[in-house]
Order: sequence, then structure tokens, then C-alpha cells
Amino acid sequence: MNADQNMKSFFFLLLCATSVFAAETPSQRADTIFVNGDFYLFSCPASNAGLSCLLVKNGGADAGVFVRTPRAAALAVFDGRVVEVGKNEEVKALAGLRTNVVDLHGAFVMPGFNDAHNHLWSGGLEMQHVDLTSATSLEDMQARIATKAKETPAGAWMEGRGWDHTKWKDQRLPSRQDIDAVTGSHPAFFPRIDGHIGVANSAALKFAGIDRNTPDPQGGKIDRDASGEPTGILRATAKEALQAKIPEPTIAERSTAVELALAEAARWGLTSIQEPPVNPQDASEWKYFLIYEELENEGKLTARITEWLPFNAPVNVLRAHRAHHANDDLMLHTGVLKGYLDGSLGSRTAALLSPYADDPKNTGIVYHQQDELNQMTIERVRAGFGITFHAIGDRAFTMALNAFEAAANDMKQRHVAMEKLPPFHSFRIEHAQVTNPELLKRAADLELIMSMQPSHLLTDMNWAEQRLGPERAKNSYAWKSALENKLPLAFGTDYPVEPLTPFRGIYAAITRKNEAGTKEYYPQEKLTIDQAVAAYTSGSAFADFSDHDKGTLAPGMLADFVVLDRDITKVAPEEILKTKVLRTVVGGKTVYEAK
Ligand SMILES: [Zn+2]
Repeated sequence: MNADQNMKSFFFLLLCATSVFAAETPSQRADTIFVNGDFYLFSCPASNAGLSCLLVKNGGADAGVFVRTPRAAALAVFDGRVVEVGKNEEVKALAGLRTNVVDLHGAFVMPGFNDAHNHLWSGGLEMQHVDLTSATSLEDMQARIATKAKETPAGAWMEGRGWDHTKWKDQRLPSRQDIDAVTGSHPAFFPRIDGHIGVANSAALKFAGIDRNTPDPQGGKIDRDASGEPTGILRATAKEALQAKIPEPTIAERSTAVELALAEAARWGLTSIQEPPVNPQDASEWKYFLIYEELENEGKLTARITEWLPFNAPVNVLRAHRAHHANDDLMLHTGVLKGYLDGSLGSRTAALLSPYADDPKNTGIVYHQQDELNQMTIERVRAGFGITFHAIGDRAFTMALNAFEAAANDMKQRHVAMEKLPPFHSFRIEHAQVTNPELLKRAADLELIMSMQPSHLLTDMNWAEQRLGPERAKNSYAWKSALENKLPLAFGTDYPVEPLTPFRGIYAAITRKNEAGTKEYYPQEKLTIDQAVAAYTSGSAFADFSDHDKGTLAPGMLADFVVLDRDITKVAPEEILKTKVLRTVVGGKTVYEAK
């Protein structure tokens, strides 16, 4: 079937669905009507289910074919859901006396972004810290810290991350004396951009009991000057030991963090967020779930949140947390379990099948043994949980596949069909940065969901090939290969590791170039704009079991969409980076509007 025929059958099916819906609800009118828009209704990879995407599939689109839908000018909302899309006159006919009519003045509209991997609250905490990411010199870093010190209550800790001395003129590491000069009596600690080393001031070292007599901890280092005194620079476990002593944020600080981050998310057009636990040790996600719950009760939750639970937690605790809140609440619920299998490529802790090209004795680290991992996976799948693993290297990916295969075999032996499992059942992977054709085939047999973050490439392309060597680099960040294996693709940012903006990820996905456009990374894995948009909308929804409610704009779907200042499907890729969100709509309600 050619594209034209596809389109015709699609039109037909969409019409059928629309009229069936209308016939069932003849008295229904609209609360709000958005007119004079340029609605890009959806883009679907064939592997996604979903109401609208199913129509495409049944309409005969070949597997792997993406269908870009015709545009609509107007959209009507009733009770949070789309009731009609079409021409202005058709949709206006649904207006009643109390219908609110919003004129979009011709602007481009698309389904709201669903960030499939976003540490929102962690970003919110960082927003309250000093931002050192763009500090151009030690003096600049000091000036930023000094400004923040003035508004920090006496004796309170100061934090902030992101400095990078390799970008400064003399490339000297900062010292505790440099920090003392601007922090006064505040204990202070500032991790470097990579997160593996940091600089503490004298008050922080004193608080943590680190002095000239403190030995280096195993796996870490306390840098010392010529006289043997600590310089303030702490590496790896020495850094972690100090960080463990920084007091936890109060509930009020956590709450502020979430509210700040939600406002930013709305400003970037994120209507849904899937939030993983922060690291293998962190168990604070439940504190944040309760904060989201409170915000929801107060009517302040402006994005739909799926809060994942930690894979390592005991099954009885996981069950209790899942049962705590209605799982069919469309604004907030718990999601899959996330386990950590390895570290990161940048720090050479991602687990590789053969050694790092730039570190021939090192194959990275793993957090689990295979047998133990299989047992834990089987136990949790039996309890009806969906599972995802952080797996960056190909060895971690292999371990994830082994564990999922063990769980799938266990289900087969017990004659449990995949389809009959609870809705939270799924096998999913986070990052999957280093793959190979054989692993992708195994993943396809398991119907594994690939949750990837294209914006990571913009950071990682500076050293990824050094770490991996050309052969493996060719198979890294392999978005297109994933789709060619019919693996569902879900996109996110990993905020605050990468910025919150979805446009950076879309740009990375379709160009595989750095932001300046001067460097390209294995362009054969580029996606089309429709594929990238699908991964960020219908694909993310599929990965979150919500593709029947979200990710596409069609009658019956949630009215979650975003109005942009340009048509990202038509402008030059570098223009996408400059996109501004004009309006963000969640459930038919405007949660952000540009001034
Ligand atoms: Zn993450």
C-alpha cells in the first residue's frame, strides 16, 4: 500500500471514529474551543498502540512507517478531553453559551511533550542552588557564589554544581581558600560538571571532620597541598562521604523545589513527566510522591506525573506504595520499578562487554550479579510490576535482557500470557547508549521499550568515540536502529543532567550534530522530525501505558497540547533550538501562557 492509500484509509477511519464518538454523545458540547490554530494532530510509529495510532495501524500502514496526519484548524474540549478536531466552522458548531473560545492566531500546535525520563524534583532542588554551569572563570564562579551567599541564612549550607575549570584560562582547580573568600561562615560544597569531583570550603571540611590526618577512603582521594593540608578538592568516594553529611532538605524546601520545577516544565511545554528515582541509594521518591499528592489536592499540579518506584525496595513496600494512590488517576500515579545496572560512559563506569578504548583494563562497574538480578526481576514481575533498568553499556544491556528473558520464561512456565498481566507490566530500558544488532534483536523478541535521551548525545559526542572506539561508537545512541527493529522508542531529557527543553532533544535526534552545527556523530542514526516527535509524544505515552489517553490529539484523547512560536516540522533544524512555547494546555486548561 502506498502512502496515498494509507492516508485515504486513515482519513476514512478517523472520520468513522469521530462520528461514532459524536453519535454516542449527542448532547455533549464543548467547555473550551481553540480556533485558528495549525494543529499537528500526531505522528505514530507503527509499534505504538493508542486510539489514533491504532487507526493508522489498522488503516494498513506498514510496520515502521510513520504517518503524519493532516492538519486541523480547531479543537474542542469537554471535561478535559478532546471532543472534536477539524475545520473552524465544524468545531465552532459545538460552542454553547458558556463555551470559552481561544483564538490561536494561526500558531502551530502539537501534542504536549511527555518527558519519559525526568528527575524533576532533583532539578527543582538544583534551581535553588548556585548555578555554576556557565561560569567562564574562577572569578565568575566566585561572584556567583558571593551573590547567593548574601541571600542564604547564616550557617546554612551552600551548594551548586557545574563548574568546569578546563574551560577557564589557566585551567587551575579551585581551592578551599578560593571558596572561603566568598562564602563567609556557610559550609559549602560545589561538585564539578561531571559530578565525580567537587570543591569544599574550610567550614565544610571541618563539619565533615576532614583534615590533614584523614586517610584517603577506598575508591577516593582527598587532594592535599605541599604541606599536607586538604586543598578542598575531593574525589569519588571522598566526595560522596562529604555529601552524605550535608543535611537533607526540609519538607518545605522539597515542596518549593517541586513547585519551581513544575513552573519550568510548563514553560517548556511538558504536559507529562515520568520520574525515576535519582540514584541506587536514594529513597526519597516517596517523600516527593506525597508532595505531588498535596499539590494535586490543592489544584497546583500542572503536569501529569508518573512516579517510579525503586527496584531494590522490598516487594511489600512496593505493593503498599502502589496501593496508596489510585492507579487510574490521570494526574498522578506510581509507575514502573527502576533498577540501576551500571554507571555512566563519561566517568567510564558504564559496563561494557570489552574494555574501554581509552582505558584498556577497565570494563566499567555493575550494581547486581546476574543470578540475584534474575531472582529479583522474577519476584517483582510476579507481583505485577513493570520494570525498567538503567543500562548504558552493552554489558549492562545484556544483563537486562537476561533478567527479562528469565522473567518471560517464568511467566510462560506458569502459563501467564503477557497480555493478561496487570497494566503495569512491561520490560523497558533506560538510556541503552551502547548496543549492537544482536542485542537489539533480542530486545525486539521481548518487545522491550527503549527509553532514550537524544540530548545526551550533544554532551557525550565530545568523548563517546574515545571511550568506545569506532566499531562500538557506530552502534551507540542508535535511535534509528531501534526503530528499524520495531522497538518502541520513548524520548526524555534525564533533566537535570541535560536541560529541561524538549527542543534540544528534537534537534539532536534529527541532526546528530552539536548545537553549533560544527560536529556530527554517526549520522546514519538520524531520525526524521515525525519520528522524533512521535518518540517524545505517542512513544513516551506508550512507554507509560497511557497511549490510549495521551500522545495524540483525536476525539477521546486528553486535551494536552502545546502552542509554539514556529512549526518545528517545517523550520530548519537549527531554528528548532530557538523555539518558544506560547501556551501549554493540560486537560484543556492553560497552565502556561507566554507574556
Ligand atoms: Zn536519569
